[in-house]
Amino acid sequence: MYFVSTRDEKGTKFSATDAIMKGLAPDGGLFVPEHIPSLPEDFTMEKGYAYAAYQVLRPYFEGDEAEGDLLEICSKAFDFPVSFHQDNGKDTLELYYGPTSAFKDFGARFLAYFMENRLRKTGEDLTVLVATSGDTGGAVASAFYRREHIKVKVLFPKGGVSERQMRQLTCLDDNVEAFEVDGTFDDCQKMVKDAFMDPSLKGLTSANSINLGRLLPQAVYYVWASFIYQARYSKEPVMIIPSGNVGNSTGAFWAKAMGAPIRHIELAVNANRTIPDYLESGEYRPRKSCHTLANAMDVGAPSNMERLFSLFRSYDEFKANVSSHSVDDFKIRTTIKDVYDESGYVICPHTACAEYVRRTFYSDDPTVVVATAHPAKFENIVEAVIGKEVPIPEKLYDMISRDCSYTEIKADYKDLF
Ligand SMILES: *Cc1c(COP(=O)(O)O)cnc(C)c1O
Repeated sequence: MYFVSTRDEKGTKFSATDAIMKGLAPDGGLFVPEHIPSLPEDFTMEKGYAYAAYQVLRPYFEGDEAEGDLLEICSKAFDFPVSFHQDNGKDTLELYYGPTSAFKDFGARFLAYFMENRLRKTGEDLTVLVATSGDTGGAVASAFYRREHIKVKVLFPKGGVSERQMRQLTCLDDNVEAFEVDGTFDDCQKMVKDAFMDPSLKGLTSANSINLGRLLPQAVYYVWASFIYQARYSKEPVMIIPSGNVGNSTGAFWAKAMGAPIRHIELAVNANRTIPDYLESGEYRPRKSCHTLANAMDVGAPSNMERLFSLFRSYDEFKANVSSHSVDDFKIRTTIKDVYDESGYVICPHTACAEYVRRTFYSDDPTVVVATAHPAKFENIVEAVIGKEVPIPEKLYDMISRDCSYTEIKADYKDLF
């Protein structure tokens, strides 16, 4: 199995290990599989999540030097529960039981163990650069904390992350360093890209959702969840995914292409309307992001769109496969409140975007809303809306009660070094 860059028409091939260690392709494009493999015929969920993950990922690592270590990497990375909130076919997939209470733990932990495994063999050292609009940085910092041969630099936009998110980013020491950037999330992302393009900087890699090692594990829970759903209801669900950089949803498209029983995929976005506007007009116009209550989705130029465009090559094909609706802050608040008033169930602002889309556009369909973060991470929004305190998961509490430290810098990548 090989991987190619979204921008390379000649189709230069890279192994999975090469693609993951590089992060970004040499031409600035993103790595995608040369073709999407099918699920293995002996695929089983009876041996638990980590083993199922190994089976889903194995075809992508066929012939790769890490193939023999894949099961061990999966077992270390996926050591927390994947949970379903059942509600008569209007189910919610809770991806927030990892160490930092958001779905990004899946990708970040896989990537961290994968890289450590590789660097132990080669003896090299790497610096991971990661820009975050909220949850990425915390997940990456936690996943890479005290991993051998690795340093981490986390960039977050000033005023663009919640207090608890900020604490998660800045509470680690040792091999993890945090930077508060005077700019937006898009500026942070650009700084990472600029650093990669600077030939004088060596030993850099990315842990953003552009890294293939983050994306592949995000296909796994869609396979897992869709089979569980199908077994329970004898139906294929529409997956409704709170989306920003579209990394999580790219995982869903790959899972569907592998043969997972998914009827359709919907990208619920906040007031950053780049994708719904494209679907309406046929003209793709990336833009500056705006602040919303679902801040981990405040993205105006979604980096993984390039991957979706390589999967769906024309506008018509794109339109046939991708749906997307925008949800504003007012609807986010009312949805959190409605869900809580009806059932006592508490959701985060990102999940609320997907729930709003379910209620408005898919009320007659079998659906799975993807809950991307624990509501306690956004307590100042959620608690004000429901009028009640949201208990903090223990792991999150431990993390945010430590001391924080970070460096303030301008939006210039040179200040990182
Ligand atoms: C990162 C994040 C998203 C958006 O995921 P993408 O892969 O960037 O589309 C949604 N919700 C939460 C809570 C997140 O942390």
